[in-house]
Amino acid sequence: MSSAFFEIAGHKISPDHYINGQRVAAAESFELFCPIDQRLLGRVAEGSANHVDAAIRAAERAFPTWAALTAAERKLYLDRFAEEIGKRADAFSAVESNDAGVLLSRMRHGVVPRAMLNITWFAQHALDLQTRPIDTEQARHIVKHDPAGVAVIITPWNSPLMLSTWKLGPALAAGNTCILKPPEWAPLTCSLLADAAHAAALPAGVFNVVQGTGANTGAKLVSDPRVARVSFTGSVPTAKRIAQAAGANLVPCSLELGGKSPFIVLADADIDNAAATAALMYRNAGQVCLAGTRLLVDEKIVDAFITTMRRYVENLVIGDPRDEATEIGPIIHPRQVERVTGFVERAVSAGARVLWGGAMHPFGAQYYRPTLLTDVKQGDEIVQTEVFGPVLTLQTFTSDEEAIELANGTDYGLGGVCYGETTHATAVAEQVRTGFIWVNSFGIRDLAAPFGGIKRSGIGREGGDWSFEFFCDVKDVVVPKKPFRASFAQQ
Ligand code: NAD
Repeated sequence: MSSAFFEIAGHKISPDHYINGQRVAAAESFELFCPIDQRLLGRVAEGSANHVDAAIRAAERAFPTWAALTAAERKLYLDRFAEEIGKRADAFSAVESNDAGVLLSRMRHGVVPRAMLNITWFAQHALDLQTRPIDTEQARHIVKHDPAGVAVIITPWNSPLMLSTWKLGPALAAGNTCILKPPEWAPLTCSLLADAAHAAALPAGVFNVVQGTGANTGAKLVSDPRVARVSFTGSVPTAKRIAQAAGANLVPCSLELGGKSPFIVLADADIDNAAATAALMYRNAGQVCLAGTRLLVDEKIVDAFITTMRRYVENLVIGDPRDEATEIGPIIHPRQVERVTGFVERAVSAGARVLWGGAMHPFGAQYYRPTLLTDVKQGDEIVQTEVFGPVLTLQTFTSDEEAIELANGTDYGLGGVCYGETTHATAVAEQVRTGFIWVNSFGIRDLAAPFGGIKRSGIGREGGDWSFEFFCDVKDVVVPKKPFRASFAQQ
């Protein structure tokens, strides 16, 4: 049976699944370590075929009643769910800081409020989902957004609370029932979400959590033909496996994947502002999908840019993510540390020059210095492949055309950043082939706006109506405005 409750900063967290409104222990479990100091935090339930089956059956049973509620009725439950998340803000913050290494301050001030908004915003916006008829001369088209059924939600370790609620909000608000499979390197805030849902009295089976490893539990969930939607955020190789498994049943997948986003600095940019933002690309130890990790700087200003950015980077506070002053915490797992060091070593062997960093940080075993590599070529592995660590590359250009060509020269297409005189930077940004790009800014997010990548960075968009389009079956109920007689001759 799975082991004892976790105790983190005075908070108790269940290691078990949450299926049909109840905690369910498992015979198999896996170890969970803290990225801050490598201590064993405890053991987490591993979902078996029986657990997956029980969760899908519970979600299927709960679906008709949940789907039949009005959006306003579901909103009452979901607003309470968000409130219960808010009541547990300290627990969510301390726990994700300990299992994922996210800054405690960012959890408190950024992630927990956003997690609550992820639920309440979609609950509110689901209210007008069914009231968008299309009126033509001959008919009224009542465009219905019917919930699809059982939605499987699979999230990565770099921001589990934010990413899980970002999918749960629209899925539940639209009337689907959900099974969340948390990331095995940072599964604990998803367990706390089950406590919040339980306290909010969400009906049994509407929201389930099945813990487990991706290759085992995750693979079983996404290949089950009873599932109506798979919403995944994670890496490209996993996405290919999931798309194949779900594709065998023709189950639609939303795939939010990795990036290698360009960070363009034009000659007419505010260098100080651009350099300060570039230093932010190291936040969460670079484990951020939307970070602009390829610095592309106009040759005319590159020296000034490097000098300014170096100053910002030298002042970054690296340390324990639970300390208020810390700006950069640990890398999640020893395997991820190996991945990061491997990329840097291979890049240096291939001729890259280390402008700063390029080595472990003395603070601890999973801390890596913010690193900038230059003398890299467009075809190099370090330019073409996502590292997902605090490692940036620097290339220069001499014209807008060259900047755009370099920016577009990878298989990824998630995001981007472009600094320069606003009209100029906007014109360049419009030619960069990504799902989104920030002009003279970074990280402005709005729940109403579309988010997602093109090329290998994903399929589909999240946010606003795009989330609802994915989690719903759109149906057109056509009612003629005048008496209508069907005929063989009509189109
Ligand atoms: P990952 O692909 O290894 O794992 C993500 C999730 O998939 C985990 O929960 C894992 O257990 C599960 N999984 C693994 N194999 C599976 C399988 N065969 N079937 C079903 N589920 C399976 O990714 P990661 O290392 O946890 O996260 C890092 C990646 O996530 C990076 O590539 C990053 O860019 C990406 N990411 C993207 C976004 C975005 O919005 N585009 C946001 C955050 C992270």
